[in-house]
Order: sequence, then structure tokens, then C-alpha cells
Amino acid sequence: MSLVTCRACDHQVDTSALACPKCGATDPAKKISRQRRDARNFIIQTIIWLSLIGCAGWYVWNTLIPVVKQYIVKPQNDQSPVGRP
Ligand SMILES: [Zn+2]
Repeated sequence: MSLVTCRACDHQVDTSALACPKCGATDPAKKISRQRRDARNFIIQTIIWLSLIGCAGWYVWNTLIPVVKQYIVKPQNDQSPVGRP
């Protein structure tokens, strides 16, 4: 027997109770499973966000960095043709 807090009235009820003895809410222990589901959804969302951020970082690293490098190197390329002809 373990007690959980009723999701409706915060009264301590048994996990096997079908209804809260105080407020009569059905499945008072349901909050636990909902919390676990929320935690699982949070983990899944975190993984999705981390992969999105990882993909974005990879994209930035492979797309923007060469552009920035070209942009930085470009003035030197602009200067060298001036001296060559
Ligand atoms: Zn209750």
C-alpha cells in the first residue's frame, strides 16, 4: 500500500483506490501515470530538440562557416588580382 496525492484535492489516497474518499474524484492515483507520461514526453521532446539543435549546428557549421571564411578570405582575393595584372 502506498499513498499518493489526489490530483483533485491533494488528499492522501491509496494508489489502489478507485475514487478519492475525500472529494470523490475517480482514479486519484492517475496523476502518477500522467506525470510519468509527461516525463516521457519531456524526454522525447528534449531528444527531438537536441537533434534539431544538433542538425542546426551541423548545418551552420557546414554552410555558414565556409561562407564566413570566403567572406573573410575574399578581401585578400580581391587584392591579389589588383597586383597581378
Ligand atoms: Zn480528492
